[in-house]
Amino acid sequence: MVTKDGGAKKEHVKRVLGSNIDPGSSAQKEQLVRKLSVSIANSKLDTIAPGLLNKIWHEAEVILSHHQIINLNNDVYCITEQCNSTNVSTKNGNFIRHCNNARSTSGLCQHTLALAEENGCLHTFLSKFYSKKNKAANIVKGNVPKRAQEKPKEKKKRKGQNNVESVPILINRRKANDEIDFQKPMMFLEIWHNKNPFNIVFTREEGKKSIECESCTVKFQQGPLICIPQDVTVNHTERYLYRKKDEKGNLIKMVPTWQKEAARFYWIRKACLLQRHPYFWKGMLRVDEHVRSRLKQSHLKVLQEELHFTS
Ligand SMILES: [Zn+2]
Ligand SMILES: [Zn+2]
Repeated sequence: MVTKDGGAKKEHVKRVLGSNIDPGSSAQKEQLVRKLSVSIANSKLDTIAPGLLNKIWHEAEVILSHHQIINLNNDVYCITEQCNSTNVSTKNGNFIRHCNNARSTSGLCQHTLALAEENGCLHTFLSKFYSKKNKAANIVKGNVPKRAQEKPKEKKKRKGQNNVESVPILINRRKANDEIDFQKPMMFLEIWHNKNPFNIVFTREEGKKSIECESCTVKFQQGPLICIPQDVTVNHTERYLYRKKDEKGNLIKMVPTWQKEAARFYWIRKACLLQRHPYFWKGMLRVDEHVRSRLKQSHLKVLQEELHFTS
């Protein structure tokens, strides 16, 4: 009786207020345009709690449908979600420690699922997951082509009887070309966020022995012969973290500067800038005349393609 009454009440509220008020309604599910090619039932992951497994599956499909997986090189992938992004490294221990879900399952989470699906090796990843946990990280990047950071071409047809038929992609992933074309609200959520411009400079003229990207931590090439695009970088002046010893002089911790700022560097790459500075857009780029006059056509091409810079 109780449930019947509850159901009748719900129906009544629905009639009065319209059908959109049901919190678990299909509104969000309907928006999923890309699903994982292996269903939970076929995943055989019976040692993970069904509630958690459902959640992970759903979130992976949300990532595939609406968000981005960006190859940052050096086996690091940036996976974006609503108001968030997570870096997953497929080497070192980061693979099983990068997020709470991965920690509790030793590597299975929305990020690694989405990444395996994107790289066309989800089935292998899942079937090896429990038998060879340690190798799961290698499988995730198993099929990554050399040109991984370029735009995906049509998917290769997969062979082998173990592979499950993919659910067709209903629409292409959003291209998000306007991510850097329009001014965004300035939101300073991290100590390195500020209104400072992003300066295009020549790497070798920065007077540093070694420069690495603050975002993906990949070092810029050094030496007499430096090729495009490594000879230009984006210099941003920002607050930073420094090592500090406590009173006893032994414990070292990282402390943010109070006001002091220093130059930090980024690759000429949209992903590197947006990952650390979500408010970045092309209007924040600056280039001094003494640099601008020496930029070659190839520099301008890279700057235009990656950051939509126009001289
Ligand atoms: Zn994760
Ligand atoms: Zn970078």
